[in-house]
Amino acid sequence: MAVTATEKKLLVGGEWVETGEWIEVRSPYSGDVVGRVPKAGAAEARRAIDAAEEAMSEPLPAHKRAEILVRVAGYLGKRHDEVAQTISAEAGKPMKAARVEAARAMSTYTFAAVEARKLAGDVVPMDASQAGVGKLAFTLRRPLGVVGAISPFNFPLNLVAHKIAPALAAGCAVVLKPASQTPLSALLLAELEHEAGLPPGWLNVLTGPAAEIGDVLVDDERVKLITFTGSSGVGWKLRERAARKKVALELGNATPVIVEADADIDEAAAKLAANAFAFAGQSCISVQRVYVQRTVYDAFLERFLPGVEELKAGDPSDEETDVGPVIDDDARERILGWIEEARTLGAHVLTGGEADGTVIRPTVIAGAPPQAKVSCEEVFGPVVTVSAYDTFNEAVELANGTRFGLQAGIFTADVRRALQAAHELEFGGVTVNEAPTFRADQMPYGGVKDSGTTREGPAYAVREMTEERVVVLQL
Ligand code: NAP
Repeated sequence: MAVTATEKKLLVGGEWVETGEWIEVRSPYSGDVVGRVPKAGAAEARRAIDAAEEAMSEPLPAHKRAEILVRVAGYLGKRHDEVAQTISAEAGKPMKAARVEAARAMSTYTFAAVEARKLAGDVVPMDASQAGVGKLAFTLRRPLGVVGAISPFNFPLNLVAHKIAPALAAGCAVVLKPASQTPLSALLLAELEHEAGLPPGWLNVLTGPAAEIGDVLVDDERVKLITFTGSSGVGWKLRERAARKKVALELGNATPVIVEADADIDEAAAKLAANAFAFAGQSCISVQRVYVQRTVYDAFLERFLPGVEELKAGDPSDEETDVGPVIDDDARERILGWIEEARTLGAHVLTGGEADGTVIRPTVIAGAPPQAKVSCEEVFGPVVTVSAYDTFNEAVELANGTRFGLQAGIFTADVRRALQAAHELEFGGVTVNEAPTFRADQMPYGGVKDSGTTREGPAYAVREMTEERVVVLQL
């Protein structure tokens, strides 16, 4: 597929604007320029907040917000090829995965539209206390205010959708700063919202130096919530600096999965081979650490390794490709360095371990010690460790042996074991007989420990983006 370089403008106050300076967007696979976007700074960020505040001074009724959200879902369907190709070109995401992401964004918009239509408060049972007798009370769910949204490169469409669609459902205007490496999908989504009839100021999109735009979002008191998806280091610093506002953090993981001896080993090996390497492991819940009960360890590897070696690595624009490049040279060098460190610490690379051009071959490492970075930090690349364990308690301890806590999984035929794992694994989500890379967009999704503070999924994000006001009536 030939990629045509696209030029996109920023959206501020309903106008498509340039700034005179540009950021080039390059394919992580070929290095070719696939687009360019204007470079904005603090001044544009302030203008965007002004526009968002002004938009919110004339609230949009829920039915209008829902209609716009439904329309965007429809446009995403109609322009599916263009949307998937944009994701693939700028992120280096294989078309197979880009198509899934484009389809998931439709789902995110559809669920957000449902939330817009059912946004309501509660009736408080006032006569449940003596003080309340003779009174009626109910709550209103009010939009929190202007939302500052910051998104990462790895799901440049659907993770933007997970911020801007619930914000509109909640009645909040947004200032969005997408990742500098992948701004095209976000700006395409902004075009779709614009075409769907979104009035000026409700969505503003800025690309440019992260710290400069981030500082304005942190410092401006009119921004009531910063919703951030990205790395832990950046996220937690933002939260420290924005002590007086709500900061929703959706951060990284070092995803573990336990394979018990009674599990269906064929199914576990097939699902894990597919889910550890999709988008070159650059999903926050990509399978990274596989713990297999010792009695089935060899049987698991006999099935898992051929599954990994069958994956097709290469050009992301090829519809057959499973594993493409990682996002840039720095990421590739870092990941290869971590593989080398594991080797130095005594681990064995069972397959992969090197790069072919810009693509790191899917890599499986055995015997990595717990202190190796591949065992405890987030690799965010096509690398998996496999380790044998003897007892379930040992497996849980190994799985929990990380500062992260986003999602984890277990394969077992024993429902009691599965429920025990659900209780004892310190993660925001636990999958049973499914790879922990699984996410459906309506699920509550988010982490504990260093992985974050909140839950996304339209219903949960809308809760974060609204506040309750109680109204008390004397009867
Ligand atoms: P990142 O480097 O932290 O960047 C994320 C966003 O933060 C980008 O828009 C970036 O802008 C911006 N940013 C960087 N420094 C900033 C600052 N000082 N102030 C304000 N904004 C700043 O993360 P990434 O490499 O794009 O994404 C990978 C990470 O995201 C991984 O850790 C992954 O696990 C995590 N993630 C989590 C989830 C989840 O839902 N929990 C989902 C996907 C990814 P620039 O691009 O301009 O630098």
